Amino acid sequence: MAKHTPMMEQYLKIKAQYKDAFLFFRLGDFYEMFFEDAVTAARELEITLTKRDPGQKEPIPMCGVPYHSAENYIKMLINKGYKVAICEQVEDPKTAKGVVKREVIQLITPGTVMEQNMLDDGENNYIASLTHFEDGSYVIAYNDLSTGENRLALIKNGWNAVIHELYNQPIKEVVISQDLPEELQNSLKEKVDATLSFQSDTDLHEDYRHLCGNVDDQRLVEGFGRLINYIQETQKRSLDHLQQAEVIELDHFLSLDMFSKRNLELTETIMKKGKQGSLLWVLDKTVTAMGSRMLKKWLERPLLDKASIERRQEVVEGFYRNFMDRDSLREILKSVYDLERLAGRVAFGNVNAKDLVQVRKSLQKIPELRETLRQFEQKEIRELAENLVFPEHLVELLENSLAEDPPVSIKEGALIKDGYNQQLDIYRDASRNGKQWIAELEKKEKEETNIRSLKVGYNRVFGYYIEVTKANLHLLPEGRYERKQTLTNAERYITPELKEKEQLILEAEEKSVELEYQLFLEIREQMKRHIPALQSLAETVSAIDVLQSFATVSEENNYTRPVFSDQRLSIIQGRHPVVEQVMKEGSFVPNDVTLDNETNMLLITGPNMSGKSTYMRQLALTAIMGQIGCFVPCEQAELIIFDQIFTRIGAADDLVSGQSTFMVEMLEANHAVANATERSLILLDEIGRGTSTYDGMALAQAIVEYIHDHIGAKTLFSTHYHELTSLEQSLAGLKNIHVRAEEFEGNVVFLHQIQDGAADESYGIHVAKLADLPESLINRASDILKQLETSSSDAVSTPPIQELEQGTGQLSFFEEQSSTAVRQRPERYEQKIIEELKEMELYDM
Ligand code: ADP
Repeated sequence: MAKHTPMMEQYLKIKAQYKDAFLFFRLGDFYEMFFEDAVTAARELEITLTKRDPGQKEPIPMCGVPYHSAENYIKMLINKGYKVAICEQVEDPKTAKGVVKREVIQLITPGTVMEQNMLDDGENNYIASLTHFEDGSYVIAYNDLSTGENRLALIKNGWNAVIHELYNQPIKEVVISQDLPEELQNSLKEKVDATLSFQSDTDLHEDYRHLCGNVDDQRLVEGFGRLINYIQETQKRSLDHLQQAEVIELDHFLSLDMFSKRNLELTETIMKKGKQGSLLWVLDKTVTAMGSRMLKKWLERPLLDKASIERRQEVVEGFYRNFMDRDSLREILKSVYDLERLAGRVAFGNVNAKDLVQVRKSLQKIPELRETLRQFEQKEIRELAENLVFPEHLVELLENSLAEDPPVSIKEGALIKDGYNQQLDIYRDASRNGKQWIAELEKKEKEETNIRSLKVGYNRVFGYYIEVTKANLHLLPEGRYERKQTLTNAERYITPELKEKEQLILEAEEKSVELEYQLFLEIREQMKRHIPALQSLAETVSAIDVLQSFATVSEENNYTRPVFSDQRLSIIQGRHPVVEQVMKEGSFVPNDVTLDNETNMLLITGPNMSGKSTYMRQLALTAIMGQIGCFVPCEQAELIIFDQIFTRIGAADDLVSGQSTFMVEMLEANHAVANATERSLILLDEIGRGTSTYDGMALAQAIVEYIHDHIGAKTLFSTHYHELTSLEQSLAGLKNIHVRAEEFEGNVVFLHQIQDGAADESYGIHVAKLADLPESLINRASDILKQLETSSSDAVSTPPIQELEQGTGQLSFFEEQSSTAVRQRPERYEQKIIEELKEMELYDM
């Protein structure tokens, strides 16, 4: 093996400790990467791959990025899910003996980025840890390093519940133990789009114990320990801003499984994976980044406690009614910066003076904000006002110390106000007096020499000088100044006095810049004491912003305040909050829905594209909006507080997910059947569609019966199996409804209106007409339908598929086919399948 230079030895030694990260190795003005790192980085970052020691037998692959633009490259790597270890020179190269000492000062990972331009303002950046216990329970600990938020959740009901919980949250990294079974690790990789990292130590260090002060369950403490140890190990610095860990009692919130989060498109759409088109997109009228993040959190965890929901409603109502004051409120909020993340960066030690000015400006708005809130009648709004505690001392500090408009750099002065520090004022006076003296000198010399173009200038190399143009040199008395520099058309001079003053000015400036930097660090340090106050303010401001957003959207879109009942759900003239937004104004057809103890299941029939799934989704979204405290899209609503919502709604991506549609259907139906309670809402759209007619229908019926007899959950069930409508006779709690469609000049027109009773069977065929299928084909289908209607057990011949494909305009296809599998299938065989299916323990599948 080739022997390496001492520096390369140092590199390899450090790299060995950071095998799963890119090691950014500081060399002068560059971060260099070597070996494999260099090869991969060159590819991922599209930068040039070079070689170190190209003369050697085995030159080392190398690439590098300039120190000053490193942030962008790091961002690119992090966004791709990689980690980056920043290795700096930790001693002065001038005084170092041998190779300069280097150390990794921070490991940047997708879940721990703090750099402002790597974070999305409107979204949390979570890192989570997952810890499993012998009793089969799991603990998930969440942290957002940029805001300091910590949350813990204990999951008792198995692995699936873990996945449902983690799914669709902005989690960038999950920290696990090496001994989490491999299949579970794989399942995590597959379902949660996050980088996996490892940390085995779960002991929570003394220093962080207080964050778990009121947590009794040792399992939660261990889960938190794993997370904190990982963060500490990667960040290697103060984590003063971490907030008290909040235990999420999962059963205090409406539980939405992975399927529902996805199907209902709460925060992003299925197809585009973006916010646009989601419920969040409609509801988000927040004006601060903090508010927008909080709204997303609320939407993911609707409430179960009626009193808490009503507290939010009261505020929304107040804001809704008094729109004048709401407008002022919005205006004030617009000038409040992201206090939550600013507080995080104060603790982290990477705020500059501009950031602190943002804190100052935000805080200065608090009294006005409070006054505006006091204009409202509702006691809930006044309570919010009282929660806005004005941090007087902090504001005083920032007002007295920080310059009005300081620069980004904290090492070039102009940060601190006059009058804040006596010594600084002395230096500044010295410098100002010196400059004043120089200004006067220019005036005096002009007069005395009579050279009107004489001027005093400054440059970095020669300092202050007096400049006289060549044309005027004859006016200058011999020996008046000392010549310093000759230019093509001027001469530059100095005098001993000028140099003396210059010395004073430069010294004073240098000292004042250095002192300003020290003062700034002190201010930043002092601010740490105020972090909890800032965080609590940020929380209240965020909540105010979300609640005004609810009021604003409710007013703009004509939502009404729902009431809650234990017995009955009744929505009059309900609308789908998202579909109505993307449709032409006024063209969405509103519909009613009623579910109560007598009728808790609705079986919906109607042709494709008539609006069945829109109707079902609309109910779920209305329930969720109600339970986060927002008003709802309808004329009048009485809602039940649901404990869980389950959905099986056909989604376009079933086809690409790798699992067969039928399997996905069964998994989702099983999940609902196994977990739903009487207080849940179940939406099943076209269950059984993914398989051949008879077993699909049998399963659909069995599922309806099971839910009816054993669960009693409020259920909407849509189907194209017309046969199922006869269940209305046998199941007391089930009622048929259908979507009305009418024939107009031989075509079907969808009215999107829900009505009682079952749908007419033949609309499917009218829909085919709409799709412009050949007339002869439509006629043939009508015939088949008629035959089916006269004898449902006597199957009709169906042509083999290849004839369809071969069709060349010859209508042989429509002639009677003589022998097909369907016709020959013995009825006994079908009967047997149905029997078998009936006996299956569906909910155990
Ligand atoms: P189905 O589930 O019956 O196949 P969808 O619910 O997917 O039908 O609705 C099909 C289309 O009809 C939707 O994309 C929507 O544009 C429109 N639609 C559905 N419900 C309504 C309604 N109540 N008012 C107006 N248009 C509607």
